[in-house]
Amino acid sequence: MSPKTNTPSPSENSGDLPSQKPSSELPEKTGKRAVAQKWSERVGKSFRKFKILEVNTGRRTRVLLQCFCGGTRWVLADSLKANEVKSCGCLEKAKNKSKHPLYNTWVMMRSRCRYPSQPNFPYYGGKGVTVCAEWEDFDTFVAQVGLRPSKCHSLDRIDNSKGYEPKNVRWATKEEQASNTQRNRYFEFQGEKRTVSQWARRFNVSFDWLHYRLIKKPQVPEELFSNLLSKHITP
Ligand SMILES: [Zn+2]
Repeated sequence: MSPKTNTPSPSENSGDLPSQKPSSELPEKTGKRAVAQKWSERVGKSFRKFKILEVNTGRRTRVLLQCFCGGTRWVLADSLKANEVKSCGCLEKAKNKSKHPLYNTWVMMRSRCRYPSQPNFPYYGGKGVTVCAEWEDFDTFVAQVGLRPSKCHSLDRIDNSKGYEPKNVRWATKEEQASNTQRNRYFEFQGEKRTVSQWARRFNVSFDWLHYRLIKKPQVPEELFSNLLSKHITP
C-alpha cells in the first residue's frame, strides 16, 4: 500500500488512483465528493446564464441558481450540468402566456403604440397614444381589463384623447366602437375644435340632443352652433 491512498484529499480525482485497485464503489463516492466540492467552489460565480448562489451537498448535489430574470430556483446539479435547466421557470411561464387568449391583444396594443413599422402606428403611437406603465406587465393588464366577452369584441379606448390605461379601456363590438369614434369626432366652430360632448357642455345643451343634430340628422355645424349662440333654436 502506498501512503498516497491513506490520505485522501477531496481535490484528488479518481484518475490518480491505480486503475486496477478500485472496486466499483470507491471511485464513485470520491467522484461524488469531488463533484460536490467543485460545485461548492462555484458559489458566487456564473454558470452559463445563471449565477450560483448556494450549494447543498446532500445525497444528490443541489444548486440554488439566480436566473437571468432575477428569479431563483433549486435544481439538481446533474440537470444543470446536462444543460436541462433553461430558466427558473420564467421561460415556461412566458410560453404559457403566449397561449393566453389576450396575449395577442396585449402584444398588438403595445406594438401599434410603439413601433413605427407597425401599419397602425400613425393612428396610435404617431398620435401620442401610449400604454400605461402598469400594463407592461401582462398579468396586470389581464386582471384590470378582464377577459374578452366574445370574439366580436375588441379593445376600445373610451376617451380617444387618452391612452391605454385603467378606466379608459373597455371591450366593445365594432358598432359600439364606431359610435365611440363618432362621440370623439371633432366639430369646428369659430376656430375651435371640440367633440360633441364638449360642445354640449359649452352650449349647456344635452349630449343626446346635440349628438342627434350633428350625427344622426347631420346639420352643418357652423349653422347649428350659430343658431345656438344666437338662441335662434333652443334644445
Ligand atoms: Zn427566470
